[in-house]
Amino acid sequence: MKFELPALPYESGALEPVIGKQTVELHHGKHFQAYITNLNNLIAGTKYESMELVDIVKDSDGPIFNNAGQALNHTIYFSSFSPKGGGAPSGKLADAINAQYGDFENFKKEFNAAATTVFGSGWAWLSKDANGKLVISKEANGSNPVVNGLTPLLGFDVWEHAYYLDYQNRRPDHVTALWSIIDWKAVESRY
Ligand code: MN
Repeated sequence: MKFELPALPYESGALEPVIGKQTVELHHGKHFQAYITNLNNLIAGTKYESMELVDIVKDSDGPIFNNAGQALNHTIYFSSFSPKGGGAPSGKLADAINAQYGDFENFKKEFNAAATTVFGSGWAWLSKDANGKLVISKEANGSNPVVNGLTPLLGFDVWEHAYYLDYQNRRPDHVTALWSIIDWKAVESRY
């Protein structure tokens, strides 16, 4: 198998109460694993078999795009949390956030607005463009900002499977809570 499920960098219950143990186990062990398994099956014997994941997302469509996109999305997503996370970014990323959004609180407000208004299944993303300019975007279903030439830094998964066991319909509460487990060092490393 070409692609493998990345191991979690924390215990499955370590993000409680922000994300419950059962949610992490189902989301990582079942949903994420299924995207990886589906992708491997779909690319077997195609030109995508020898390509990097990001390049598959940029080049493909249909089922291969859906599963490659979700494989990339969840790789970034699960690596962006830490039980010791939270607080605010520092360094160059903090400077860029302050320059573009005024301050971190206002940035979070704008990001939360994007995350809570994705209609149906999808993602909210913070990305950077080729000049380091930050972009907040909404992506439907399994898409990723790489399709628009951007580099993804942080993504909030707002598919119901990401929060329904813990928050039911209260997506805004889930989105607000996520900030307390963000591993900013991981996010800054992508900037
Ligand atoms: Mn998901």
